Amino acid sequence: MSREKVYNFSAGPSVLPESALLKAQQELMDYKSCGMSVMEMSHRSKMFQDIFDGTKAKLKSALRVPDTHEILFLQGGATLQFAAIPMNLMVTGEASYAVTGNFSSLAAKEAEKYGRVFYACDTSDRGHSYIPAQEGIAVSPDSDYFYYCANNTIYGTEWQYIPETGKTLVCDMSSDILSRPVDVSKFGLIYAGAQKNMAPAGLTVVIIDKALAGKAMPITPNVMDYDVLIKKDSMLNTPPCWCIYMLGNTLDWLESIGGVKAMEGLKRERAGLVYDFLDESELFTAHAEKGSRSDMNITFRTGNEELDAEFVKEATARGMLNLKGHRIAGGMRASLYNAMPLEGVKTLVEFMKKFEAEHRCIK
Ligand SMILES: *Cc1c(COP(=O)(O)O)cnc(C)c1O
Repeated sequence: MSREKVYNFSAGPSVLPESALLKAQQELMDYKSCGMSVMEMSHRSKMFQDIFDGTKAKLKSALRVPDTHEILFLQGGATLQFAAIPMNLMVTGEASYAVTGNFSSLAAKEAEKYGRVFYACDTSDRGHSYIPAQEGIAVSPDSDYFYYCANNTIYGTEWQYIPETGKTLVCDMSSDILSRPVDVSKFGLIYAGAQKNMAPAGLTVVIIDKALAGKAMPITPNVMDYDVLIKKDSMLNTPPCWCIYMLGNTLDWLESIGGVKAMEGLKRERAGLVYDFLDESELFTAHAEKGSRSDMNITFRTGNEELDAEFVKEATARGMLNLKGHRIAGGMRASLYNAMPLEGVKTLVEFMKKFEAEHRCIK
């Protein structure tokens, strides 16, 4: 199956902008006539430093990161940050965590190794199908920070508001960063694994209020100490050079089509097509409750596991790949990241309609 015939709905690693990949292809063997690939360059070379600084400047501009905050390009995935955050920020030893899905639950459990975790909410009572309202969040008064995950990749819910907690806000934006404008100044720390919406796997972006650095627990490894990493400009050790280069290419594409504001319009349009159909469908139901639905990862099912499997199989044969839901959630999941063309979503909805017409009576 060739690239032209495929729509990749993977939750991550996932679809990247074609122009970003083509630029990488053109520059793969000989970057700007320097005689080598970006993959082969010293991270201390002037050539790479320019790539690094360029990507950082583009990200700063795309998200309007204020001068109070520093951008770090790290390794270890989002998962390493589950530990780095408490090690650096649990200064008095307690933090509040909103558990609205799998990754926030994992983050909270990891934080329990380093201090007291207060559970601000837990949406597992309804299968993580919703995001609590502001009134539904409790925050312990002694918290050093309030932690939440903006978009729940597995269950398909997304926070539609920034919680007001009176505490330093820490947010996992792995699966919706760069999909809408965000007021970075409201956050103490934002982080995201790059492989969902930005670049290949291997890069984690951390955006941190510099005032929060310098208070890490003494046991904190240097590679996880934000203060050390800020002072070394992410180059305490070798950074994920290729991924940083690729993020630069993605950001060029993002800017060329109107930045995060345009992305927000596009994401609503893409997701709207699928949810509108799901709401009128007699075969499929959306997992997430209205008002909490993710525009990035749409979770749905027929209610019949065999039929779900048949749907995934037939979609795959038609070039719509990776629609199987995460193993802990079941059903189907269509991930509609920034680089997913509208045409891909229209093709999916057309297929869902056809499948429904053929299988309605079976259910
Ligand atoms: C994928 C994902 C993670 C885990 O990312 P890794 O880079 O694999 O550690 C964490 N949080 C969210 C929201 C995710 O989507």
